[in-house]
Amino acid sequence: MPGSYLYITCFKCQKKYLKEGNLNGLPLYKVRNFSMDGITQIICPECQDIILSISQEMLYEIYFQTAVEQFVDKNYAESVFFLTKSRETFIKYIIELLLYEKNSSINIENIWSKGMALSERRLGAFFALFFYRFGEFLDLNKIETNLRNKVMHDSVYPTEEDTTKYAKNILSLFNTVMKKILEEIDLKIIMSFNHGQQKKKIDAYLKTLKDRHIQIQYASDSIISRNTFSKSEEEQNTRREIFSKKYPDKWKELACQANKTGKIIYINEQGAAELKNRVEDNEPKIYQPTQSFEKLVEIISQRKKRFDNHSITLVI
Ligand SMILES: [Zn+2]
Repeated sequence: MPGSYLYITCFKCQKKYLKEGNLNGLPLYKVRNFSMDGITQIICPECQDIILSISQEMLYEIYFQTAVEQFVDKNYAESVFFLTKSRETFIKYIIELLLYEKNSSINIENIWSKGMALSERRLGAFFALFFYRFGEFLDLNKIETNLRNKVMHDSVYPTEEDTTKYAKNILSLFNTVMKKILEEIDLKIIMSFNHGQQKKKIDAYLKTLKDRHIQIQYASDSIISRNTFSKSEEEQNTRREIFSKKYPDKWKELACQANKTGKIIYINEQGAAELKNRVEDNEPKIYQPTQSFEKLVEIISQRKKRFDNHSITLVI
């Protein structure tokens, strides 16, 4: 079973290396993550610290990224497998989130033990809850399941075109649903739900690692968009882009100051820049959908190339 690749460094050894002025030998370990739960454990070969790398991504995002990695390596059957897992866990995530929004003290694990684990029932629950919450019917006919069945049950090997079509179908489901979720549900509720899910996972893991020196590192590089911007924020983004291209040196200087002071760079209507305090506007947020599948394939290919050129030690 292929797992996604992670690149983990040891901060303790990194500090030691930097102190000695050794910049070439910074430790970076390429790890194949088989667990798929977003927690990867390695033991630093140099200082024997346990390093836990905890992904901030939700499970469906990890599966989707793995599917794209498999696609880039031309393993199309594996890609279809992970795409299917991604969609199934996405549906589970949305059901849990919608139930949590209704009642945050609900015991979600309890629901799955009551016969909801079957995928058709889960799809039915997802459909009903989505309608109940947003007043809109999702078109279930648009959810492509044929390819999955062919690959899983008839041992058909999917082509690049089949896999691309399937991935696009799933991305389109993500974009439709996430638009509603992120534009209509209070962000605090979503964050608190995501955080609770992460905490449960980490606590259970830490219990098994008593009395060891542990470095916990958080990683976040999801390719599935959770971005929302208000109209003014979007306008600022456009103005910033224009300004940074026109005056790259001035932009660098301002970015540096902004970093130090915790302020943001604001570009006024005349196109002049100033540093301002961050203020949350109360305008409605608009979801920025995940980019096209082709774009995601390009991102992952570049990421792979970048890391493959790096000097890497392979551990477990
Ligand atoms: Zn170390």
